[in-house]
Amino acid sequence: MKTKAHEYTPHNHYNCIDAYKNPEHPEDWDVCPNCGLRPKIWIFDNGCLTACGCWYSVYRYFSIRAESIMSFVKRHNGSTLGYDKDKLRKNWNRWCRTLLFWKRISYYINGILSKDWLI
Ligand SMILES: [Zn+2]
Repeated sequence: MKTKAHEYTPHNHYNCIDAYKNPEHPEDWDVCPNCGLRPKIWIFDNGCLTACGCWYSVYRYFSIRAESIMSFVKRHNGSTLGYDKDKLRKNWNRWCRTLLFWKRISYYINGILSKDWLI
């Protein structure tokens, strides 16, 4: 799976399997700097994944991940203590802000933005 959203074609709509749902508080999730959509998420025992408008097909799409509850439990001798349920959102927002930062750098280098826009 590619890790760079800009390698996927951005769309203004989703194209993911029905398992993906809107997060409980969508406003807490940043907008994807590549496609402009907030992510849908799929959290199950063995995975935590996002899907946005960056995709080639239902099965080839950009996704941010976080450690699943089962993986965490295995690493901690059966305990869920300390598992961060908010990790996927944190990973997503960090990724969005990082990409936005690099986009602004490249706009700046290309003379589209002034230095004041750099965060
Ligand atoms: Zn996107």
